[in-house]
Amino acid sequence: MRLLLVEDDTMIGETVLQLLRGEHYAVDWVRDGRIADEALRSAKYDLVLLDLGLPKRDGLEVLRALRARRDTTPVMVATARDAVGDRVAGLDAGADDYVVKPYDTDELLARIRALIRRSAGRAEPAFEHKGVSLNPATREASLNGQPVSLSAREWAVLEPLLARPGVVLSRAQLEEKLFSWKDDVSSNAVEVYIHGVRKKLGNDIIQTVRGLGYLVPKQ
Ligand code: CA
Repeated sequence: MRLLLVEDDTMIGETVLQLLRGEHYAVDWVRDGRIADEALRSAKYDLVLLDLGLPKRDGLEVLRALRARRDTTPVMVATARDAVGDRVAGLDAGADDYVVKPYDTDELLARIRALIRRSAGRAEPAFEHKGVSLNPATREASLNGQPVSLSAREWAVLEPLLARPGVVLSRAQLEEKLFSWKDDVSSNAVEVYIHGVRKKLGNDIIQTVRGLGYLVPKQ
């Protein structure tokens, strides 16, 4: 899962960046509204955590422009505890949820998981398919009830495929979920992690669709 963190306060930004990376999200951090706008036009994110008070372009403007492009990327706005007006304005401008600062880290992470889950059309916190179960909240994986230990990046390639059985994701789409801008990506990285998943969960769990990418079969 790849997240865009938009935050101009260095201390808050660094804290949240460490927190999210610790949860194995690939995170890009930008500090003003103009760069946030450019990032949102150039990459596909699973979620944006958007501060509203930003230099160069206001967070609300960034959000309105995103929705005006009919971009449905899930957006969580970050507001001060007493700023009810900001929350209302954010939701009315197209935000999916809000979170108040200073952050309660458990709440922030739970809201992020819930929003990613809802945007994928799932109601259940864990998802299961073909005997494989992934629980993003506990990061527990199992095969036919037996716990399986997946590395963070094996998890990162499997999760989006298992979330939508039958849907093909290209190598580039999986790379976007695995890496942030700062990472050096070797050309066969996705293949390496898919190989790891197959070793642990069986060859059939992820199918290669020649020339197109990968999918988890529906049946
Ligand atoms: Ca700010």
